Amino acid sequence: MAENYIETYYRDTLNTNNPRPSLEGDTDTEICVIGGGLAGLSTALGLVEKGKRVTLIESNRIGWGASGRNGGFVAKGYAGGYKQLVKKVGLPHTKELHKLATHGRSLIKKRIDKYNIDCGPVRHGVLGVSWNNHPEAVKDYIEFMRNDLNAPLEFWSTEQVRELCKTDRYYDGFYSPEDYQFHPLNYVHGLAKAIEDQGGVIYEATKAEKIDERSDGGYIVNTANGKIKCDQVVLCCSIYVDDLNKKLKYAAFPVYTYVMVTKPIDPQLLDSALNTEYCIFDNRYAQDYYRRLPDNRIMWGGRVSIKGVPKNLAEIMVRDLLKVYPQLEGAVESEYAWGGSLCYAPHKMPQIGQLKPGYWYNTCFGGHGLVPTSVGGDVVSSAIANGDERYKLFEPFSKLNFAGGPLSPYVAQTVYYAWRARDIMIEHFSK
Ligand SMILES: Cc1cc2nc3c(=O)[nH]c(=O)nc-3n(C[C@H](O)[C@H](O)[C@H](O)COP(=O)(O)OP(=O)(O)OC[C@H]3O[C@@H](n4cnc5c(N)ncnc54)[C@H](O)[C@@H]3O)c2cc1C
Repeated sequence: MAENYIETYYRDTLNTNNPRPSLEGDTDTEICVIGGGLAGLSTALGLVEKGKRVTLIESNRIGWGASGRNGGFVAKGYAGGYKQLVKKVGLPHTKELHKLATHGRSLIKKRIDKYNIDCGPVRHGVLGVSWNNHPEAVKDYIEFMRNDLNAPLEFWSTEQVRELCKTDRYYDGFYSPEDYQFHPLNYVHGLAKAIEDQGGVIYEATKAEKIDERSDGGYIVNTANGKIKCDQVVLCCSIYVDDLNKKLKYAAFPVYTYVMVTKPIDPQLLDSALNTEYCIFDNRYAQDYYRRLPDNRIMWGGRVSIKGVPKNLAEIMVRDLLKVYPQLEGAVESEYAWGGSLCYAPHKMPQIGQLKPGYWYNTCFGGHGLVPTSVGGDVVSSAIANGDERYKLFEPFSKLNFAGGPLSPYVAQTVYYAWRARDIMIEHFSK
């Protein structure tokens, strides 16, 4: 049974909420993209821009998953983190992946401009703040990013940070002027319109149930009420892939994270706590990430869990906010609170590649997916349309190693405890 959007601030501030039809009957196309999140939409748009015939199908609504529920931070990088990447694949390879991320971030901006996508306010500036007092570690990181990856991060002293984030929870940090924020669900709808305007076809409430290989080459994607005959197929199903492909299913595990949006707050009072429109995040794994919305609300994201959405989520999130900004006690009331599922491989990097000729996957973007989904869409569409081999930069992470299979919740639990342990260390050493 197809699901509509869950209740979020984004759903209630959508510019246009026009549903697409579901597939009834058989059809054919060159490429069938499965999954209408940002990975699928970016792939489909890249393909139609290169003159390909594309049909995209989505089980629920486009942007129904993480792509329509996230914090809206469009920040360069990958969930795996650059320092870890250098350890795994070396500096030259990391530089190439970083170049892709830089390109992916500007591609989003270009598309917003080119297709006139009303997903603002698009505001620049992301500030990473420290939960612990270790300026040398922050300076080391900035030096690495500047010298090795040419990323223009700025060091901010504790005083500078606290001038905007009026809390003694934070110490120094780094400012990234080129990262920005937007309204992700309006962006999703803008991409979908751009696809359709260029001849692409989108079906919602249409789940791919099975993929058959054709004896004459190509594939048949089977849905409840019709089949799609295609030359190539791209799976962008994230953690919802289920039995459509067991290899992909077993190579990833789910992690939940949460967002709460307050009711509008008196602007003067808000200035006395969060006196900036920048996106803010701290340096714990289960970090707080938040921003001020145009109508003086706070969008507060945070926490990770393997257990779904707690009943008292709003209360928990307000409590987290007040731990950082106790001066807002009594002034903060939640209006929305929701959760979403992230798709992680143990190495925390995207999984992008081909299972067999013409059978692609573009998935597993974790908690840092807005830029990487644009990268994945770009490299996969360029590979299909032009034989571009940049997607092979993801080969070290595309092996689809077993991440626990039916035991994946336990794997997730173990990984989660390791991440929590790291956060507890950070908190301990910050005292
Ligand atoms: C609460 C939250 C906050 C986040 N904050 C940020 C942030 O600020 N910045 C950032 O960079 N990242 C953030 N992320 C992560 C980011 O949103 C994701 O990495 C990214 O959106 C993943 O996109 P996707 O297309 O792979 O997956 P999804 O958006 O989950 O889309 C997958 C889609 O595939 C569909 N599907 C699955 N199986 C089938 C099938 N068989 N047939 C048809 N359709 C199918 C699903 O219905 C779903 O709509 C956040 C995520 C969450 C949940």
